[in-house]
Amino acid sequence: MRLWENTIRRVTPYVPGEQPKGENLVKLNTNENPYPPAPGVIKALKEFNTDGLRKYPDPAASVLTEALAEYYGLKEDQIFVGVGSDDVIAMAFMTFFNSQKPIRFPEVTYSFYKVWAELFKIPYETPALREDFTIDPADYHGNTGGIIFPNPNAPTGVYMPLDQVEEILRNNQDAVVMVDEAYIDFAGPSALSLLDRYENLLVIQTFSKSRSLAGLRIGFAMGHPDLIRALNDVKYSYNSYTMNLPSQILGAEAVKDRAYFEKRVKQIVASRERAKKRLAKLGFTFPDSQANFIFVTHRKAGAEGIFQALKEKQIYVRYFKTPGLNNSLRITIGTDEEMDRLFEELERII
Ligand code: PMP
Repeated sequence: MRLWENTIRRVTPYVPGEQPKGENLVKLNTNENPYPPAPGVIKALKEFNTDGLRKYPDPAASVLTEALAEYYGLKEDQIFVGVGSDDVIAMAFMTFFNSQKPIRFPEVTYSFYKVWAELFKIPYETPALREDFTIDPADYHGNTGGIIFPNPNAPTGVYMPLDQVEEILRNNQDAVVMVDEAYIDFAGPSALSLLDRYENLLVIQTFSKSRSLAGLRIGFAMGHPDLIRALNDVKYSYNSYTMNLPSQILGAEAVKDRAYFEKRVKQIVASRERAKKRLAKLGFTFPDSQANFIFVTHRKAGAEGIFQALKEKQIYVRYFKTPGLNNSLRITIGTDEEMDRLFEELERII
C-alpha cells in the first residue's frame, strides 16, 4: 500500500451505455433519436465560420438562450444552459441541495442521481415505486433537502400527470423541486406551465433525445430568475462548463425549426405505440411508456439471454445488471426498419 493512496477520492462511477462502432448495427441502448437533426442544423454546420473558433465562446450562450426563450415564451433570465442536461443537473445538485436534510428521488430512476449525491456528499432517501412502477406523490410530502425525479421516469417511461407534480410542489415549498424532463416531448404536458406559481420549481430538458443532438451536449433548465442566477454563479465558478461555440450556434438552429421537431417526435411516438403491440404479442410485459423507450420483462425468457442473443446479431439494447432491474431490458425506439430487425430477431429468440 502506497502512503499517498489514502488521499485519493474514491467513487463508484456511473456506467454509461455502450457506444459500439461498426456498420449495420442497430443501436437501441442509449435512447438517442434515430433521425438526423433539423436541416437548418446541418446547413449551419456546413457553412460554419471557423474564424469564430479563435475566440472564447460567450459564457452565457446568449444565441441559444434567446432562441429557447422565444420558443418557450420565457424571459432569458429564466433559462440556464449547460453541457448536456447531465451537466445542468450536476450544477443544480451543487447549487440547491445543500441543507443537511436528505434529498429524495425514486429508488428506480436515472442512476446518475445517486452518483452525484455521493460525489457531492449529499445525503439521500429513495422511496420505492409502486407495484405498477408509478411514483407515489405522497412519498414526497415535505421534510426534504430537495427533490428530483424524471418525468417520464427512466428507465420505466412512466409519466406523472401534472396534478401530481403540483401536489409535490405544494408540499415542498421550503426546498427546490427539480423535474428532469429529458423525455417530456414524447409524453404529456410539461411542468413548465407550473413555473408561474412555484418559484421553487426547476424544469430541466435536453437536446439529446427529441432534438437529435446528443453529440453536441446541450441541456437547459428553466425556472425563477433567482434560481437561474444561483446556477450561473456556480457554473461560472467551474469555467470548463461553458458551452462550446458550435453547440451554441447549432443548438439555436435546432430550436428554430418547430415543424421538423414536431414531425420527428410524432413519428417516434407512433413507432413506440406500434412496438408496444408487437412486444405484448411476444409475451413481454411493460409499464405504459410515454418516452422514446420501453422497459420490458419477458414472462419466460431471461433478460440477459435476450440481450446477449440480440448483441450477437449486432442489435444493442440496454441491460442493467443492478439487482431489481436485472430481469428487464430497456429498448429505445428506432426507425421502423430498425424496429423490424429487432422484432425479426426477437421472434427467433423467444
Ligand atoms: N436525465 C435522464 C432521465 C436521462 O435519461 C438522461 C440521458 N442519459 C439525461 C438526463 C442526460 O442527458 P444529456 O446529458 O444527454 O442531456
